[in-house]
Amino acid sequence: MQQPESQSAGEPGRQRVVVIGGGFGGLQAVRKLRRAEVDVTLVDRQNFHLFQPLAYQLATGALSAAEIAVPLRWVLKRQPNVRVVLAEVTGFDLERRQVVLDRLPNGRRGATLGYDTLVVAGGSQYSYFGHDDWRSRAPELKSLAGAVDIRNRILSAFEAAEVEQDDERRRSWLTFVVVGGGPTGVEMAGQIAELARDSLRRDFRSVDTRTARVLLVETADRILTSFPPSLSQKAERALEQLGVTPLVGHTVVDVDPASVKIRSGSGEIEDIAADTVIWAAGVAASPLAATLAAAAGAQVDRAGRLPVTPDLTVPGHPEVFAIGDMVQVVQSDGTIALLPGLAPVAMQEGRYAARVIRNRLRGRATRPFKYVDKGNLATIGRSKAVADIKGIHISGFAAWLTWLLVHLFYLIGFQNRLLVVTRWTFSFFTRGRGARLINESGANGTAETHRPTRESRLPSD
Ligand SMILES: Cc1cc2nc3c(=O)[nH]c(=O)nc-3n(C[C@H](O)[C@H](O)[C@H](O)COP(=O)(O)OP(=O)(O)OC[C@H]3O[C@@H](n4cnc5c(N)ncnc54)[C@H](O)[C@@H]3O)c2cc1C
Repeated sequence: MQQPESQSAGEPGRQRVVVIGGGFGGLQAVRKLRRAEVDVTLVDRQNFHLFQPLAYQLATGALSAAEIAVPLRWVLKRQPNVRVVLAEVTGFDLERRQVVLDRLPNGRRGATLGYDTLVVAGGSQYSYFGHDDWRSRAPELKSLAGAVDIRNRILSAFEAAEVEQDDERRRSWLTFVVVGGGPTGVEMAGQIAELARDSLRRDFRSVDTRTARVLLVETADRILTSFPPSLSQKAERALEQLGVTPLVGHTVVDVDPASVKIRSGSGEIEDIAADTVIWAAGVAASPLAATLAAAAGAQVDRAGRLPVTPDLTVPGHPEVFAIGDMVQVVQSDGTIALLPGLAPVAMQEGRYAARVIRNRLRGRATRPFKYVDKGNLATIGRSKAVADIKGIHISGFAAWLTWLLVHLFYLIGFQNRLLVVTRWTFSFFTRGRGARLINESGANGTAETHRPTRESRLPSD
């Protein structure tokens, strides 16, 4: 072939570094190789870097897609030693030092790309605990398309309630079930409640959007289990004030076309009619972890993560780094480092992999990877958040302001920061949401399928 391979040769004698995944981990690795004497090829199946921590704002109409995603070529345009290849990686030949590329933009499949050093940062996806059939009814926020799909469903549900005459059906349109009480579920539930009580309140004529029910279902006995219990309690109270019903100690046991079955701690099962279900529970590593593990003769753990050595390389393959959500780090004493699936972990791992590559070129050794924990933040709604920063617990406005500043700081691109600040300031004072568009083509037609299909007359008829 192989156009990608021949292009990857770069300058003769220079190391070829292939980085897979332009997310938080991969992008940091690429950027920290800016001054290294290497030719870098970044492969991603999408042409943009997605700032996942703000995906829930896209899903609730607070921000638009271009404000939370930036084209990878644009991010890297001033880094001449990098080229970007849009393709899906489907395999690894570790003996020949090649990756297999599929779905290239020119229609080509099965192309190969050679490397001297490989960095794999494929991320993670939500796990439906063996119920993949729930996926179409209960979309997740992991991708840009997923966030747009959710926005379409939420907004379409309010539109459907506006024209619905049957009380029971209207109640179902106005019931939103968010599955998973981690930071994403909490953010989603809080934002839907704000949307219903604040932003949409005056926009509808027949329906009172404030009657919407938002249920947040969490199996554990508290929400935000990665935070101290006192902050979980504060977050729960803040959600209740917003109008969310947190159902802790409850488990979703079935998601069918018209309802969700929820089992309480005592074992009782309630069937709740709900047209909109959002999945924010259980995370599993990208399938790339299992593909790489199979190529290296390694085993993945229950969450599908690939074990890597303390220098973040695949056992037996010092030339292959694997980082971010798709790995677990096995420390020198054989224990697993308990690292959360967060952007700072992936970013620090990406920077570390680049440092090892640079040090190797200079014949220097590098100490094992060590994660520096700078704290944990979760936002609940307008002026409401919780933060655990090195043991200092903050909640309310101060935590919310910290959350705002941290997210702005990490958002890639000056232009995006400016746009987001402008929109947030505007929304803060007007309680409005400018990006409340139902975009059917952007969501695999899902908005279409969520329109009321039965024959009905408008309430005013
Ligand atoms: C909704 C949501 C909210 C979050 N909020 C926060 C938060 O507030 N704070 C925080 O710290 N963390 C948050 N996280 C977690 C954080 O986003 C992840 O920990 C982080 O993205 C992991 O980085 P990564 O590089 O491992 O993977 P990712 O950033 O997911 O990047 C993976 C990249 O690999 C590409 N890719 C995957 N498979 C292939 C393939 N086969 N071929 C080619 N390319 C491929 C993908 O397109 C993607 O660009 C959130 C996650 C989600 C889903």
